[in-house]
Amino acid sequence: MATQWGLCKSCKWWQIEPDAKIEDATLGLCIDETLQPFQLSVSGNSGCNKFMSGTPARGKGSADQPPTAEPAR
Ligand code: SF4
Repeated sequence: MATQWGLCKSCKWWQIEPDAKIEDATLGLCIDETLQPFQLSVSGNSGCNKFMSGTPARGKGSADQPPTAEPAR
């Protein structure tokens, strides 16, 4: 279990639009399994202690508010 705080833009649980750039202001959906029920919309410079280092997933509707994308992981 991850306990290290980190930024969404470097987290494997961040899911963004298929053509989105990885930037501080880019909006995406958090697909951490325990946070999925909250449909958490987070930007690249958001973060939390569920952080896990990796590259973001991609899915259409990840930046909608509320998000309409299905979690890809
Ligand atoms: S909210 Fe936390 S778990 Fe979700 S993408 Fe951001 S850092 Fe990762």
